[in-house]
Amino acid sequence: MTETWDALAGLVGAGDVVVLSGAGLSTESGIPDYRGPSGVARRHTPMTYQAFTRDPDARRRYWARSHLGWRTIAWAAPNAGHRAVARLQRAGLVTDVITQNVDGLHTAAGSGAVVELHGRLDEVVCLDCGNLTSREELDRRLREANPGFDGHVAAVNPDGDVELPDEAVTGFRTVDCGICGTGMLKPDVVFFGETVPAARVADCFSRVERARALLVLGSSLTVMSGRRFVIRAAKLGIPVAIANQGPTRGDDYAALTVDAPLGRLLPALADRLGAGPAGDATSGAVPAGVAPAAR
Ligand SMILES: [Zn+2]
Repeated sequence: MTETWDALAGLVGAGDVVVLSGAGLSTESGIPDYRGPSGVARRHTPMTYQAFTRDPDARRRYWARSHLGWRTIAWAAPNAGHRAVARLQRAGLVTDVITQNVDGLHTAAGSGAVVELHGRLDEVVCLDCGNLTSREELDRRLREANPGFDGHVAAVNPDGDVELPDEAVTGFRTVDCGICGTGMLKPDVVFFGETVPAARVADCFSRVERARALLVLGSSLTVMSGRRFVIRAAKLGIPVAIANQGPTRGDDYAALTVDAPLGRLLPALADRLGAGPAGDATSGAVPAGVAPAAR
């Protein structure tokens, strides 16, 4: 346990670290990770780009569910893990943050140089004119179009989607682009069945290639969208450290793996490396719950 902790501190303490984060980092902000150990199973198929753009009923269901789910995401605040990443960045140890999360919590915690691989849920794009508008503005328009629409949200997914019975969705009115007047609106996030823009991927590759180490936080690396950066780093001999609750599909490429709650691990790491100020003070010792993952 101590050995893994020392190795992690050594790796991050050497600096030039690029962080790749996933849903597991945001669970302590109240956004469940449906793939992680604390997650809820996804009960419906995730919305695909194809269904969203071609099927008006699917689009209505999506917006009705997302309209409710958005409130959870909008109210979520960064947790001790996000804040520790920002501290490590201010201390000059972490250079860049690449995140698979669409919740904007790294930026809210004070991190800079954040690449949001899958976009941001708080922005809305028009698929016709390409204009970006704020989700807040859309939220206001959807409330106006659907007075009295409300529902009990049992579970929200990391992409802001919630479980909602079909009958609750009937009659929900979607709205079109307020700028061109007719364009279809979509949250500016990468849907299933959609690819991350090539320039964004290339940007991430070049950040990873310049790194001394890649630190994966809270991602099971299930999808190639994130795993490819781990594979690239390993191929180039850049050490990869993975901190996640549970095994990941990148473990075979990792120099070290740590199974720990990130809200405890990361502040302890920042304290140990003297990355102040310590907003979430710890002793800098091996935090409770830190155990080397089975290899
Ligand atoms: Zn438009």
